[in-house]
Amino acid sequence: MTSLTFYGGVNEIGGNKILLEDQGTKIFLDFGMGFGIRGKFFEEFLTPRTANGIGDFLEMGLIPDIVGVYRNDLLTHYGRPPEEPDIDAVLLSHAHADHANYISFLNENIPIYCGETAKLILEAVEEQSKRDIENEVLNFKRRPLFRKDYKKPPIERVFKTFRTGDKLKIGNLEIEPVHVDHSVPGAYGFIIHTSDGSVVYTGDLRLHGNNPQMTLDFVEKAKESKPVAMITEGTRIDIKEDKSTEQTVYNTAKSIIGNTNGLVIADFNFKDVDRFRTFYKIARESDRKVVISFKHACFLERYASDKKLSVPNSDDENIMLFKPKLGTGTYDDDDYSNYRFIKNRLHYQNIVTADELRENQSAYMIVLNFWYFNNLIDLKPENGVYIHSLSEPFNEEMEISYERMKNWLDHFNLEFYQAHCSGHAPRSELIKIIREINPKKLFPVHTEHPEMFKEFFDNVDVVEKGREYEI
Ligand SMILES: [Zn+2]
Repeated sequence: MTSLTFYGGVNEIGGNKILLEDQGTKIFLDFGMGFGIRGKFFEEFLTPRTANGIGDFLEMGLIPDIVGVYRNDLLTHYGRPPEEPDIDAVLLSHAHADHANYISFLNENIPIYCGETAKLILEAVEEQSKRDIENEVLNFKRRPLFRKDYKKPPIERVFKTFRTGDKLKIGNLEIEPVHVDHSVPGAYGFIIHTSDGSVVYTGDLRLHGNNPQMTLDFVEKAKESKPVAMITEGTRIDIKEDKSTEQTVYNTAKSIIGNTNGLVIADFNFKDVDRFRTFYKIARESDRKVVISFKHACFLERYASDKKLSVPNSDDENIMLFKPKLGTGTYDDDDYSNYRFIKNRLHYQNIVTADELRENQSAYMIVLNFWYFNNLIDLKPENGVYIHSLSEPFNEEMEISYERMKNWLDHFNLEFYQAHCSGHAPRSELIKIIREINPKKLFPVHTEHPEMFKEFFDNVDVVEKGREYEI
């Protein structure tokens, strides 16, 4: 008998934690952080206490209270006895936090399967992040963490990487990962062959990106498997259709930048390698150098090591590395070399300071996120533009930041432009994908509107969190 239990991604966008059981084999499909449920109780200065082990996360429902899953240091710290791991594997669809980050809490003997590129991205994140209990995906340090233990090496998790065409054998399951197109490279859907037939999991996907063929490959394979069940993402089931593509982002940004003499500021997520390529291309065509941060360099260098992605490395002649002043935002320590990801790159020849950028604004496009806007005080942009290449705010918290961002732009006379296309399929694409795959049962996750699928399909299960569904 095969069953599915949904512990996350239920009535919320992200936080997927889906347990699949088949004759004693147990795997989780993703184990992500749920921003929705987390934001219901916590914010920037009110956070789950790590001094309570895993307790605050369990109590507030950020992770399910189930046996045989979690790190023993966190359980004993919370006053519970240690447990033997009782999960055979986690299949990670892609390296976005809402699918990956709560792997941090899992017992180190549970192996994590992910795409090769997804692993590179997790490494880039690890290199640039401070150790944090919600961000210990690759490795962790036992809690409580005393000063005397700081120097001890972390405990490494077991990662097994795959590419399309590989077949994974886990217990009595055979699993085929197939690439899909999403706003991060190394994204996969899974076809899981169980004793009751195949179960298909989309992860996050779209058809309007630069690589629709990847998603179509997955759809084709999934259809061939004649699935008894399909777990589909539904982030944008409420958006009828969407005309924005990576090409429209390029067209919009290109014309804005072509009409600008001042500094160009581009704000996009560096995990989105297609978006990087779009802006890199425009910069080349506009005789501007692309200025990135040391954190961005962590990503770019991993991407460059993946020949299939064919992106320039951080020492490319058209790329400069921005060295911020100390005491700005995250760089509050008194020495650059106290930041591992900066220290390792301080010898680079293509480092540029705010003073140099300020003197020659028309020669650069800087990738700068709102959280680093205090650097504008040093850059003093004139006649500049700011291209917001991220989604528009969709909740109150984001609205407030958005207002604050606009105040900064007003202060520095920066013209605001929006140019973005989503990583998720809108309704028209979701319907097309699901009709083609034609599963017996449909389980929408990763959406605030699962019931909307009932308008288009008559085999929909609107799932309840924590309930077991037989298939
Ligand atoms: Zn995603």
